[in-house]
Amino acid sequence: MDNRNDLWRHVDANKERLIALSDRVWGMPEVCYTEARSSAEHTAELEHQGFRVTKNVAEIPTAVIGEAGEGGPVIAFMGEYDALPGLSQEAGVASHKPVEDGGHGHGCGHNLLGSAALLAAVAMKEWLAENKLPGRVRYYGCPAEEGGAAKAFMVRAGAFDDVDVAISWHPSSWWEVAPPLALANTRADFVFTGRTSHAAAAPHLGRSALDAVELMNVGVNYMREHMPSDARVHYAVLDTGGIAPNVVQAHARVRYSIRARDLRGMLELVQRVKKIAEGAALMTETKMEMRIVSAVSDLLGNTPLEQAMHGVMEELGPPHFDDADRAFAQDIRKTLQPQEIASIWRTIGMEDSGAALADFLVPLDAKRNPAIGSTDIGDVSWAVPTVQAHAPTVAIGTPFHTWQVVSQGKTPAAHKAMIHVAKAMVGTGAAVLLDPALMAAAKADHKKKLGADGYTSPLPPEVKPPLTMSLGG
Ligand SMILES: [Zn+2]
Repeated sequence: MDNRNDLWRHVDANKERLIALSDRVWGMPEVCYTEARSSAEHTAELEHQGFRVTKNVAEIPTAVIGEAGEGGPVIAFMGEYDALPGLSQEAGVASHKPVEDGGHGHGCGHNLLGSAALLAAVAMKEWLAENKLPGRVRYYGCPAEEGGAAKAFMVRAGAFDDVDVAISWHPSSWWEVAPPLALANTRADFVFTGRTSHAAAAPHLGRSALDAVELMNVGVNYMREHMPSDARVHYAVLDTGGIAPNVVQAHARVRYSIRARDLRGMLELVQRVKKIAEGAALMTETKMEMRIVSAVSDLLGNTPLEQAMHGVMEELGPPHFDDADRAFAQDIRKTLQPQEIASIWRTIGMEDSGAALADFLVPLDAKRNPAIGSTDIGDVSWAVPTVQAHAPTVAIGTPFHTWQVVSQGKTPAAHKAMIHVAKAMVGTGAAVLLDPALMAAAKADHKKKLGADGYTSPLPPEVKPPLTMSLGG
């Protein structure tokens, strides 16, 4: 029972089915809350494996939970299956070849992410049953990681209230415990309404919403000097008010993404951006409405879980890549900029060795220079002790959200990494389940990191999952 090989046998016994699932999901790329087929594929697999299935989690039609086992602690494995727009690409070729012009593609490897997490859950289910152990395992099928923040809505709806530990992973260049760093992020639309008029005959009667957007952006760009250096603010103009320069634009809309190192810092920054928008409205005599689209929290680490996962990954060793895997990764490497490769090596504090696939475990105390984005697992990490792995599904240096990730989404190397990380995840879950002291330490660490203020969802209560929003990224 305490033999990990026993646990991993269950991963190997189910790997072919889950690799096939990953490849099918790769072939039906669906973005941000439209993952009907991908979610149905995951649901069908959960049902086939005998999980108790809950659909429409948090009133999101493409979110699903499967549970197995009885009593004991609840271990959650976190899966995703959303793709990205505009990244259609053939598999297994080292050049940019869309399958369908303008089509979607799995540019973040979430086909592998969801399938490996489900594989870990299946293995844990069988292991619990075989050893007659108390404990429940859950698979969380989470849509819309890219820009939709589904997990933040699922946390707000209470879907993690009785979970003891959450375990996740993400495709990467590296084999490592993921450093617990992510920025809190709010997406908000600023909608300006003015008054139209003929721009030559009666310009004094018009009040331009587009002017307001421009002034707002200028104001925010002046704010940059006076915000924390690790905060990030970026925008896209979604509505310029029309294409006719001789008509004063009565409506305009700009979408902002406002990121900061922690939740409190982000909420402060959102208020400052809102004041600038109000100022722009005042200057232009237009009306302004701020609409929060989605929001995610920063990531809380969990030291005992990170150490436990690192131990399991050390025991497993890196995935066993062969010469064919390395040769294709070298072909992909040739399509990358040297700066891209160098910057990925810098994230683990190392120099480019020329290797195309990671064949070592990154030390837990590597001198990192991380590139920090945002993720909706942030909110899960505030709700319950959470740990994440990275597994090398791509050639070292491959930037995410690119055709190169899509091309590598079905390679034998990616499949090996996916199976390997499922073993790391289920090994970590079993370690927590079998060791009450580790469970207690993980919970104590979580409580300490939550601090006196605890967690408040960054989503205002009136904001619903943006199910019809079609913008990824
Ligand atoms: Zn991703």
